[in-house]
Amino acid sequence: MTASIIDGKIISAEVRAEAKLEVERFTELYKTKPCLAVVLVGENPASQVYVRTKSKMAKEIGMDVEDHIKQKDISEEDLIGIIYELNNNKRVNGILVQLPLPDHIDSRVIIDAIDPKKDADGFHALNVGRNSIGGDLLKKSFVPCTPLGCFLMLKRSVPNLAGMHAVIIGRSNIVGKPMAQLLLEESCTVTIVHSKTKDLETITRQADILVAAVGKPLMVKADWIKSGAIVIDVGINRVESLDDTSKTKLVGDVDFANAINIASAITPVPGGVGPMTIACLLKNTVEAAFRQQN
Ligand code: NAD
Repeated sequence: MTASIIDGKIISAEVRAEAKLEVERFTELYKTKPCLAVVLVGENPASQVYVRTKSKMAKEIGMDVEDHIKQKDISEEDLIGIIYELNNNKRVNGILVQLPLPDHIDSRVIIDAIDPKKDADGFHALNVGRNSIGGDLLKKSFVPCTPLGCFLMLKRSVPNLAGMHAVIIGRSNIVGKPMAQLLLEESCTVTIVHSKTKDLETITRQADILVAAVGKPLMVKADWIKSGAIVIDVGINRVESLDDTSKTKLVGDVDFANAINIASAITPVPGGVGPMTIACLLKNTVEAAFRQQN
């Protein structure tokens, strides 16, 4: 069997096109563009790239973007002050604080200072709680962008996920746990495995859906995967290129070259989950803008 490729570039372009239509509808209705405020603290090069890409893509679909770039020694109190100003600014519909923050700042305090109605990343405790309760509350919350992206990709492969056994490797608050909630809501049987799980491979081999969100290059071997499983690889790992050791390349957490012969569908890295994350941020922001009007 050769797996079909779940192409994040194509699906994310569709999600962005839908978001663009929503931006146009919002702008037409309310005579103002939806606006995303992006807060970046310090000079982490990867964060700078992410923020630039997010801003560029938001502008491409017609959104306004405010970048708030702050020195790495900003105090927690001052950063909270900026968040409160953005909360109170009626022009701003979505707020994103780029993580990680410097060590002297408690990320949880900052995230929970964001107005949950403007929480485009879906990390605020209220949104996390609503996602966990599910049902109608899930519709009122914002779902974190990466698991939402994985979920949209999965639904395109298998519209009805009920009864499938989903195994998620990784229990982080930004990927593993919210992914589990989304799949539970779809009536999957969900297992989360993590760094302390014993005999991990025995569990992953039972998965109809396998989501890898670990951050360990090519950790998931082909013989960890059940024949015909759908594999979603969230990992983004920069490694030395075998062809040219002076160069680096991106790989996922899954041994893609061999897994493709076992799985029925698989996301590549790059070009899989990665592009979906920003597309879902745009989707959440325009959704936030509409909800604030109602
Ligand atoms: P994290 O470090 O917060 O969590 C990693 C999880 O993996 C932890 O729960 C840990 O228990 C588990 N783990 C670690 N070693 C393990 C092992 N040997 N066996 C089983 N489980 C193990 O990471 P994260 O923020 O959830 O990100 C995970 C990966 O996804 C990273 O590569 C990150 O770069 C990537 N990521 C990609 C996107 C995207 O847009 N595609 C977004 C977020 C994260």
